[in-house]
Amino acid sequence: MRAPTFAYHGIAASELRAARAVGEAEELAEHRFVQLPDLRESGDIPGATFGSLPKTYIPLRNAVFYSLAAAFAEEVRADVIVGGHNRDDLQVFPDTSRSFFNAMQRALRKGSPVLERRRIRLLRPLQYRSKERVISLAASLDVPFGLTWSCHREGDRHCWNCDGCRARIEAFKAAGIRDPLFAGRHHRPFRYPSA
Ligand SMILES: [Zn+2]
Repeated sequence: MRAPTFAYHGIAASELRAARAVGEAEELAEHRFVQLPDLRESGDIPGATFGSLPKTYIPLRNAVFYSLAAAFAEEVRADVIVGGHNRDDLQVFPDTSRSFFNAMQRALRKGSPVLERRRIRLLRPLQYRSKERVISLAASLDVPFGLTWSCHREGDRHCWNCDGCRARIEAFKAAGIRDPLFAGRHHRPFRYPSA
């Protein structure tokens, strides 16, 4: 298995470190870090308006990411590209819709004889699962939660206050699963009451 990680403008170094750690834990055959310093979240684009989309929206992110992933796939003769978009993403971002991915898959095959011959497929196995159900599945697969990163801010630890952190707390809570990172933050050593 091979994977790209896209380092767009302003991505937290902590997130890149976590991606590298997860890649190592999964023993990827290749983990490619693609530098995209000009690709910015809408919240980092002065004066831009994107309607009701959240400030984490990146204009046409998935058209860019999947094109680059497909170039990688063409190079290494892969048959499938797997994306981790969940049901919650589909409700917010237009470039995670089924119609977008169907059109993207057609465009990639049209654009590359290799990908056409290999019938490249864009798979999204989590697309019908909420975040909470993704957490449940991940727990059953022994995903190393302790290596993962959800915070939008820079630092060695999650801030537990940004949108990414709050969504993580809620998803683990709804799934009824202990988050080793969050639990660690709140752990206080037991002390006998003083006499
Ligand atoms: Zn945070």
